[in-house]
Amino acid sequence: MEKQYSIKTQSALFSPGTPIPQENLDFLLEEVARRSSHYLTEINNRPTFPTPEALAGLASFDEPMPESPGDPFETLAFLDDIGSPATVTSAGGRYFGFVIGGTLPVTLAANWLAGAWDQNAGLKVASPTAVKLEQVSLSWLLDVLGLPAEAGGGFVTGATMANFSGLAAARHTILQKAGWDVEAQGLFGAPPITVIVGDEVHVSLLKALSLLGFGRERVVRVPVDNQGRMRLNALPNISGPTIVCIQAGNVNTGAFDPAVDICSIAHEAGAWVHVDGAFGLWAAAAPTRSQLAAGFAEADSWATDAHKWLNVPYDCGLVFCRRAEDLRAALTHSKAAYLAESLEEREPMEYTPEMSRRARGIEVWAALRVMGRTGLAELVEQCCQHATRFAEGLSAAGYKILNEVQLNQVLVSFGDSIKTQKVIEAVQRDGTCWCGGTIWQGHTAIRISVSSWATSKTDVERSLEAILRIAANV
Ligand SMILES: *Cc1c(COP(=O)(O)O)cnc(C)c1O
Repeated sequence: MEKQYSIKTQSALFSPGTPIPQENLDFLLEEVARRSSHYLTEINNRPTFPTPEALAGLASFDEPMPESPGDPFETLAFLDDIGSPATVTSAGGRYFGFVIGGTLPVTLAANWLAGAWDQNAGLKVASPTAVKLEQVSLSWLLDVLGLPAEAGGGFVTGATMANFSGLAAARHTILQKAGWDVEAQGLFGAPPITVIVGDEVHVSLLKALSLLGFGRERVVRVPVDNQGRMRLNALPNISGPTIVCIQAGNVNTGAFDPAVDICSIAHEAGAWVHVDGAFGLWAAAAPTRSQLAAGFAEADSWATDAHKWLNVPYDCGLVFCRRAEDLRAALTHSKAAYLAESLEEREPMEYTPEMSRRARGIEVWAALRVMGRTGLAELVEQCCQHATRFAEGLSAAGYKILNEVQLNQVLVSFGDSIKTQKVIEAVQRDGTCWCGGTIWQGHTAIRISVSSWATSKTDVERSLEAILRIAANV
């Protein structure tokens, strides 16, 4: 028998300290599962960006703050009716904007259960389960990403905070070697550190540097080639306390800095090497692409995202550090008696900027356990092949591919910047697929990023057909 909203009783109204009746709890959670499942089933039949009507509907949320408790069922229905149509379909198969992964079904399910658990993953005494699953997934991650097995790590919100955390470890270690305790003394009066970045450095890394007191503009920018790779012969001489930031996967081209040579030069000079590998580091998980990530394992710290290519729900970023102790030294608190931290075992909050946080490791664990090594390799490889198909199809029609398509990124020019911009806008309006735009080294381009498990060959063909049809008519 189909349950109806007739369960909306007085007892369903929120009241602190009064448990919701079992029947209503079951119904609320079944209802959200049914609505979510419906959303995900319908997603590929929707335009990839909300219609003007759906966006206009968001005005319904402009209510005054309610004066008294309401009905959870009514709130859920309202959220779905107004919110769902106004979502961007980044969980679907034809979303190629920015670098946004989908969500593997098992990770969504694990996310729900973890939500029911409501664990604080900061401390072992607050959640043995969350801490255990983080430990297991950290060691699996180091394995599949080809990083040193003894490295330490932390689960953060994204690559921005992962860059921040890795660079905090770098700052700690470099200054400690120079006889300065930066956590205790701050940066005023500290020995200066030279920070070297490639000219196509990601903006989030510069933001992380600014938060750490290094300054966005106080960096040495190394000239790059036409793919955005640091030019080795332009690398300055390294001397004194230095951090070199390299990139695995340029956000536009997908290109990798020459890590083998840079790591060896930097380490020779006593410098720290930090890797921004938000999505590119995952190339290491696919034997067919792992040569691209060669040498990155020689670095000292790494930042990557799980919400991009691993396809877990937002938000999840990861920081790794060759010597776990360096990361811990930079991010640990001064002791507080009430926290009851374990001294022998890994306490997650000592490896991230956050104290309390959600148990991100659970979804990562579920993703890795369900895909296994070969499933993950296939996910990465398949996205790369889809990117290649886009490049071939667009190039066959006479359009210019601006990057070497080795990974999951494709940059396409449709002629001059005005025409290309018009194509980008028309593609976005059409709604078959969604791609963003960029300016790559002075050339306007549409940017296709294939990062979702959900993208099928049919999605690629449909999207290609739409882009070609639109470009021909602009
Ligand atoms: C996406 C991205 C970032 C930032 O990641 P967030 O998860 O959005 O914080 C940093 N670097 C690169 C290369 C990226 O692609």
